[in-house]
Amino acid sequence: MKTQIKAVHDILDTFYPPEISFLERRNPFQFLISVILSAQTTDERVNQVAPELFGRYPDAGALASADIEDVKRIIHPTGFFNAKAKNIIACAQAVQDRFGGIVPTGMEELLSLPGVGRKTANCLRSGVFGIPGIVVDTHFSRVVERVFALGTRDPEKVETFVCSNLDETCWNRFSMTVNLHGRQICHARGEECGVCPIRGLCASGK
Ligand code: SF4
Repeated sequence: MKTQIKAVHDILDTFYPPEISFLERRNPFQFLISVILSAQTTDERVNQVAPELFGRYPDAGALASADIEDVKRIIHPTGFFNAKAKNIIACAQAVQDRFGGIVPTGMEELLSLPGVGRKTANCLRSGVFGIPGIVVDTHFSRVVERVFALGTRDPEKVETFVCSNLDETCWNRFSMTVNLHGRQICHARGEECGVCPIRGLCASGK
């Protein structure tokens, strides 16, 4: 399995551009809030509301004392805005009160923040701090389940499977290329196996 997953990594690494980013690059705090907002919506929607949100509330201190109705208005296009507004303000308050306004890098500290799960934590750690991590979202779990016939898309099982079979130096790049592969070729419906560069290695290729 290790040889197969490394081969998939190498092909996708060559196939996709060296620089891949879905959310616009921002400082750690703004990136963290952007990732929380990206749940159940597109990255384009988050990028659309980000300039006004971070223009008015650029750091943890500012967002911690924000008027929630104003925040709801700004992030409305991202959906689930009531819960998200509550979460990002609570997250800002926790960062401000417990970490002096500096976003922590440790997994346990990040998971203790409101609205932050493993996907968000790994996304921040790998995307901003360069710490090895596997970011399991719906695209990633779908592609991995299909290619390796995992029989599950459970995020923790998918993460464990990849971490156990791929060197950690490859994790961050693999997260990005597999995610992009799911968006561009291995769609949820109508996967384009005919143009897929890893069809020869895929258990579900047609
Ligand atoms: S061969 Fe088909 S199912 Fe397999 S990764 Fe490529 S597009 Fe997805």
